[in-house]
Amino acid sequence: MKTVQHASIYFNEQGTPIAKQFDDVYFSNDGGLAETDFVFLKHNHLPERWQQHSATFFHIGETGFGTGSNFLLAWQRFRQFRQQHPEARCQRLYFTSFEKFPLSQTDLTQALSSLAGFDGECQALLRDYPVATSGCHRLTFDDGQVVLDLWFGDVLESLPQRDAHVAIDAWFLDGFAPSKNPDMWQPELFQQLAKHSKKGTTVATFTAAGLVKRGLQAAGFSVQKVKGFGRKREMITAVWQEQATDAVTETSMNSEPHAERNNNQHKQVVRQDITIIGGGLAAVCLSQALLRKGCKVTLLCADAELAAGASKNRQGALYPNLHAEPSKPSLIQAAAFQFARSYYPKQPFSFAHDWCGVQHQACTPQLLKRHGKIASHWPDKLVQTLTPQQASRQAGVELPFPAILYPAGGWLSPQQFCQAAGDFLQQQANFTLHLNWPVQQLHAEQGLWSIKAPGQPGITASNLVLTLGHQTNQLLTGQPLPITGIRGQVSYIEQAALAPLKTVLCHKGYLTPAWQGLHAVGATFDRSRSDEAIFDQDNDDNLRLVEQSLQQPRWIEHSKVREARTGVRATVPDRLPLFGRWLEQKQYCYVLTGLGARGLLFAPLLAEALACELVAEPSPLPLDWHQALCAERYLTRQSN
Ligand code: SAM
Repeated sequence: MKTVQHASIYFNEQGTPIAKQFDDVYFSNDGGLAETDFVFLKHNHLPERWQQHSATFFHIGETGFGTGSNFLLAWQRFRQFRQQHPEARCQRLYFTSFEKFPLSQTDLTQALSSLAGFDGECQALLRDYPVATSGCHRLTFDDGQVVLDLWFGDVLESLPQRDAHVAIDAWFLDGFAPSKNPDMWQPELFQQLAKHSKKGTTVATFTAAGLVKRGLQAAGFSVQKVKGFGRKREMITAVWQEQATDAVTETSMNSEPHAERNNNQHKQVVRQDITIIGGGLAAVCLSQALLRKGCKVTLLCADAELAAGASKNRQGALYPNLHAEPSKPSLIQAAAFQFARSYYPKQPFSFAHDWCGVQHQACTPQLLKRHGKIASHWPDKLVQTLTPQQASRQAGVELPFPAILYPAGGWLSPQQFCQAAGDFLQQQANFTLHLNWPVQQLHAEQGLWSIKAPGQPGITASNLVLTLGHQTNQLLTGQPLPITGIRGQVSYIEQAALAPLKTVLCHKGYLTPAWQGLHAVGATFDRSRSDEAIFDQDNDDNLRLVEQSLQQPRWIEHSKVREARTGVRATVPDRLPLFGRWLEQKQYCYVLTGLGARGLLFAPLLAEALACELVAEPSPLPLDWHQALCAERYLTRQSN
């Protein structure tokens, strides 16, 4: 698995950033934004095209994110367009940018400091700018109206991982001069651009190099040389021609691992009325993502209130579970974590949380070795090693072991989050919540679902998503999902000796700072039962584990267990969630489940991904991540 290297840059006398690897400027010395405006916006006919655009979103693709100036200008123009034309059909801007050498946060901050007139946008970008791990990082701004997909890695490797059936409308071909960066301007690049284009897709680039002109032509674009910016004589524009589309679609279908899925997805009618069955984190995050994309959502919850199942914990820790090597599952977790960390603070409602960091104690020599490997493979901003003294200082309590720290991690209250989200959602015109609606039967009929719950009138739904955690299989009559319910009991204790604790401490279990006077100590793993009974023995086990792992008898003596809660985690053999479509009664329903003990981490990103799949908007998941997470991966395995 490749690691991502930061750009190595310096600033010249005019303050323009220059890449040492390429000996080239990020933008021209004389007015970077004027050049962006001229080359990329004007020659892709923006913003005028947005007014007539017949889809609900417009999609820009860029090679080379660099300082993000092109993105910032496009964002600002799109915001102005939305203000001036609130009735226009085009409501969202997707900006997908591929970057091999991302600027470090410090360099980006300096590069953007000279950009006048973009204070709010720069701050928002810097706040969400992801740590450099490879894959796609989705950033959302302006309440989801502007979506930035930052793909870290070589564009030649990343583009084939993008779902080509949601095409790009306009390309910004940046990426340093072809003479300085020949590795990028390869024939494969132009072929990939074509594969991700459709009739009317335009291209603009600052360069007039012959190889770019010939490359675009060979890939099927109709190319023109026009007057360049300022003193530059010429630049290139291009447009994708209709006749080549079928040929390219066919090539892409044959060469992609998900050809069938993509092809079907391509043909899907955009789904606007969605019924969700569930009532936990997955259900509320999905409701919110769908509402933002203009859908109408009906949520059917079996209980008298939301978050009565596995999401009912008082406190849950948020951190990624990173492998020593940056494996695919841990890259997915790194991206899900960064998405979640910008998602929760942006919510327009409040819930208890503290981004106080999460420590993993190296209680054994094996763990210490593993932690060393983790820290050496992942960026410092994601995970760092601590000596016992540093760990003690960070935690506010005396600790005997070295540790690793996820500095951006912390805890939040899943129950409060879901319930506050539910209150907020109920104020939205397109959202309906039915509580006490314990669905017992689904019946598929001519593309519709008839839904039956005892004591409630029958209803029908055209699009259905099941987010029922470990109970999802109860509604399926065909092939069950590979879910095992694992019961977990969390104990809530009062303990004066623990009062100074100010970080989440993980060992074999976990221990949180106090909230409303109680620390959460968790959690048991019990495969033998799936009921929600509370056992004193489980409370004893939770406390004993703290004592054994962390060697802290003082924290346990005279601890008073004030409360305990039990939830059943929905776990999947490969420990990754299940999302996407699932064949049931010969028609497709959708699922978002199998989040295990990682609902807080996975729910925001996978809800966004599923919402995009339902409304045929660009996915935040590279194809190989999609393959690792889609429920259908288990169908494929069965038929093999
Ligand atoms: N659009 C940028 C802006 O608004 O600041 C400027 C882009 S700068 C001229 C070119 C960028 O392309 C650099 O950030 C560089 O790291 C990136 N780049 C170069 N080769 C690349 C490749 N093979 N894949 C992805 N990005 C690449």
